[in-house]
Amino acid sequence: MKAVCWMGKSKLETLTVPDPTILNPHDAIIKVTRTAICGSDLHLFDGFIPTMESGDILGHEFMGLVEEVGPAVTNLKRGDRVVVPFTIACGSCEFCRKKIWAACDNTNPNAHLMEAAYGYSGSGLFGYSHMMGGYAGGQAQYVRVPFANVGPLKLETDLADEKVLFLSDIFPTGYMAAENAQIQDGDTVAVWGCGPVGQFAIASAFMLGAGRVIAIDRIPERLEMARSVGAITVDYSHEGVSVLTALKDLTGGIGPDACIDAVGLESHTGDVQGAYDTVKNALLLETDRPAVLRQAIQAVRKGGTLSIPGVYGGMLHKVPFGAAFGKGITMKMGQTNMHNYMKPLLERIEKGQIDPSYIISHRISLDEAPDMYKVWRDKEDRVTKIVIDPWAERRAA
Ligand code: NAD
Ligand code: ZN
Repeated sequence: MKAVCWMGKSKLETLTVPDPTILNPHDAIIKVTRTAICGSDLHLFDGFIPTMESGDILGHEFMGLVEEVGPAVTNLKRGDRVVVPFTIACGSCEFCRKKIWAACDNTNPNAHLMEAAYGYSGSGLFGYSHMMGGYAGGQAQYVRVPFANVGPLKLETDLADEKVLFLSDIFPTGYMAAENAQIQDGDTVAVWGCGPVGQFAIASAFMLGAGRVIAIDRIPERLEMARSVGAITVDYSHEGVSVLTALKDLTGGIGPDACIDAVGLESHTGDVQGAYDTVKNALLLETDRPAVLRQAIQAVRKGGTLSIPGVYGGMLHKVPFGAAFGKGITMKMGQTNMHNYMKPLLERIEKGQIDPSYIISHRISLDEAPDMYKVWRDKEDRVTKIVIDPWAERRAA
């Protein structure tokens, strides 16, 4: 089969590799009909996540048709149409029973690597380094899905792939971000980052009762998309714009009730702080660029909530924790507990409350993916979301 393989930092190739096979009675093999490139894939592409190996297959947002099931899979059969969550959960450990699926204790065979770095391991993830399980990803024609009784959401609907594909990650992620923001009716919510996660956080904040959403980014087409669903926007790259001042001005000096950091560790900043992080990262004295986290802690109102769907990887410097403490804010974060959200959000799509395909800008083949990762990273060509059809031929140049 064809698959997008990580061959080193900023180096990908679409290669022909062996088809996956059933390794465990609980496995299913899925024939992938659509997959997508995520902002999280950039952390692999840009070399921020350790324990990647040459030849690793990328991709954790995918859906398709069940090709084959292991003898212990009872709720799926060949031909079923499914969306697969990016976190792999066993369904029976202490954490799955508590519905904290992203903390599953049984699905990361390399838990010792995570434990060395973090003290504990989270669940295994598709296509996301050996530290996170070493599972082959779904930017491929076929993928092996472990614990197939637990994760895949069976679709009994004829909605097009593009309308349901994002149930695999970014729609639940944006929704959990809004839920974690503890929004009360009429609240003002600020969202940093108008990428796919930010877009679904904005849409979900409105669904959960926000009165106003203020969206912050510097990419015109992404800000435009945020405005199209009703957000007020702040372009932080405009001469003389201070995000903190803008947020104060919009909230009578108080600050937003909730702040959502949908940017994470690769935040962009043109100022001295950005230079500080870049130098510290180069000297291996800091692993992430937490510019948005710093700003969000400073911006949120006293007693407000900070929700962090943006991924952080390691050690952060100059985080104003004293301000967080002094204001008595609540912080909620983490990988998405996917399994809690897929079905309810599918129902919202079926009822016509949202059509998540509005964020798609590019439709490509697997062969085009290595080049398109650069476009995606550099936010070129008005890219807002790239969807891959693994069975499409390369388009004529
Ligand atoms: P993306 O790269 O497309 O979007 C990030 C956006 O942030 C871009 O539009 C960029 O211009 C903007 N940005 C950068 N610096 C900024 C700044 N200083 N202020 C305001 N905006 C800024 O990525 P995405 O797919 O939307 O993902 C966003 C984050 O969410 C990533 O860190 C990704 O890893 C993470 N994520 C987390 C989960 C989870 O389970 N928690 C799941 C999926 C993605
Ligand atoms: Zn993702």
